[in-house]
This record gives sequence, C-alpha cells and structure tokens, in this order.
Amino acid sequence: MTIKLYENDAYIKEFDATVISCDECKNGYLVTLDQTAFFPEGGGQQADKGTINDVDVLDVQIKDEIITHKVHKPFEVGTTVSCKIDWGTRFARMQGHTGEHLVSGIINTMFGYDNLGFHMSEKTMTLDPSGLLTPDDIKEVERRANMAVYENKAVTAYYPDPEKLPTLSYRSKLDLTEGVRLVTIDGYDTCACCAPHVKSTGEIGLIKIIDYIQYKGGMRLTMVCGINAFEDYCALHDDSKKMMNLLSASRDKVLEFVVKDHDVIGSQKAEINRLNAELSKANLEIVTVSNSLCGFTKGASFDDMRALVNENIDKAELVAFFSEGDNGDYSYIVSSQTADVRDTVKALNAQFNGKGGGRPNYAQGKIVADKQSVIDFFENQ
Ligand SMILES: [Zn+2]
Repeated sequence: MTIKLYENDAYIKEFDATVISCDECKNGYLVTLDQTAFFPEGGGQQADKGTINDVDVLDVQIKDEIITHKVHKPFEVGTTVSCKIDWGTRFARMQGHTGEHLVSGIINTMFGYDNLGFHMSEKTMTLDPSGLLTPDDIKEVERRANMAVYENKAVTAYYPDPEKLPTLSYRSKLDLTEGVRLVTIDGYDTCACCAPHVKSTGEIGLIKIIDYIQYKGGMRLTMVCGINAFEDYCALHDDSKKMMNLLSASRDKVLEFVVKDHDVIGSQKAEINRLNAELSKANLEIVTVSNSLCGFTKGASFDDMRALVNENIDKAELVAFFSEGDNGDYSYIVSSQTADVRDTVKALNAQFNGKGGGRPNYAQGKIVADKQSVIDFFENQ
C-alpha cells in the first residue's frame, strides 16, 4: 500500500520518497513510491501533474491501494527521489472540488437531491443533481454557496470507525462499507470522498454556476470556482469592455445597445431577403420543354425558389427551377403534382455532377451545368 500523503495534508507541494518499483510500460515507465502526495485520478478529478527528480509525471493511477506514477525515464529501485506537485493546477482543483461538495450539499439540504455525477475538466466542472431546479432555485443555491464561502467554515476529512458508519449521515455515490473517507464542511455537508480539499470554505473563492441544462430527469450544472472563476470573470470583463468600446456604450447600456442593433440587423435581413426575392423574380426566364416547365434565375434562395415553384406548379406536369450561383453551379428544385420526380432528379444529378434528393413529388439540390444543357436534358425526358 502506498502511503497517501495528500490525505493527511492536502498542502504538501514537495516531498521525498523511496522508489519501490519501476517497470517499463507502453511509452514510458510505471513507478511506485513508498509514499506520495500525487493524487491519482479518481472521484471525478484528474491525476495530479508535477515532477519526480525533475522528470514530468504524465499520469497517476491507483489500483488495490498502490499508486503508480507514469514517467518517460526509469528510476533505480531503492533510491530516494524528490517530488514536486504542480501546485497551481492542484490548488485550483481543490477549490473546485470543495466548491462542488458545498453546492451539492446545499442542493441536498434544500431539495433532497443527490449529485449523480461529477466531472472536472481543465477549467470547469459539471455536477448532476437528481431532480429539476428552476433558474431561481439555481440562483438561490449559488447565493447560499457564496455566503458559506464568506463564513469561512472548516473543511475536515477522516476515516470513521466502520462499525459506526451505518449510524452516520453522509452523501455517497457508492454503497461502500469499508475504507470510507468522509469530508465534512462544517454546517453544510458530509460526503464520502477520496480527494484533497481546501481547509476552509474561504479558500474556495467565488462560486459561479455558468450554465445548466435538464439532464436525465434531473439537471446538469456547469460551475467554476476560485482561480478559474476569477479568470472566467476577467475574460467576460474583457469581452464586455470590447463591446462597450465598439458600441460606445456604458456598462449599464451595453445590453440595450446590442439588443437594438440586433433588431435593426434582423429587419434589414428581412428587407434584403424581400428585395432578393423580387430580383430573382425580375431575372426569371421561363422555358417550356415537352411536358416540363423550367425556370432560370440568379442568386435566389431555396425559399425564393420554393415560392416560384408554388406559383407555377399547375402550369406543367413537371416544374423545375434553377438559380445560378457564383461558380457556374445551379441550385435546383424539381417538383410535380402528379409525377414521381425521383428518377428525373437521379438522372439530373448523374449527368451534371449533382447532389440532392427529396420526396416523390419534391426534390432539391445542386448541379454544375450551363442553361442550354439543362434545357436539352429536360427535352429528352
Ligand atoms: Zn468529492
């Protein structure tokens, strides 16, 4: 069994250890030590980063209470090595993980929901409460969590007597009966957890739920804490400043200005679409070949073409409209009230290197062609 230094003191940044074993593995070596402060991947948290004798630790895993460190250079068994934890990364994860316990504990107290899933990525975390929360519920959870940060409550961890375990109240994802380590946030939460935590809630820093969706009958909340929340705030603030400068708007007016511009752009787009439809109608040239009506125009959208098809659908057995694009390609719609157009469209695609398809009486797509070849094609149908 590897002695887990991080369990008794989550703040160890450097330590010495003796190499117990070193075995070659795919792309490196797996090293075990008599003791380690490297947290192995587990409980939703990634493995610690850092160095052993200045050699990068690539991964840390635990199996049967033995912790292995993956490195790209071998170490001699029996030697003493000096190890360093990448403290910036570890501390941010401790802030996040304790923040997650606090938020999950508050949700459990307020609504009785369990946290069914916890995942920590580079900057953000997700947690999955087992029931639904309204936007106001989430705001209240967030407010209480940040109040608990200001209260600077103690966070402690211990292994309770297994016999006393059934009498204790705590949150847990697994039904373990031995080796249960309990992490308690004074007055807020007790949860079974193997990970290192900050020693008081004040160290979590800002807690912000930045997103939420309904997920598997409950919710998935995305959250940032501490240094990651600070960096998220800085990035948002920079973006906000840029928008304020672009729009010459003060902080309290910037949203109003964006909404106004958005509405203006929306009505301008609608006007452009209307003019474009008129233009494609003005450019329209209709050719009747055998039992088909072919229409040719330029720059029309599929919506414009659909309108043209609908206006002309009863004028021939088969109605085909083509709109020339910028690169000698044509968008097309082929439609009929009485015939199945799919064979015609298949042949059209085959002859003109086209793509597209649809239903028996309606198809749309693109071909590369010139107008006369298309007319010739419909003459031969
Ligand atoms: Zn935990």
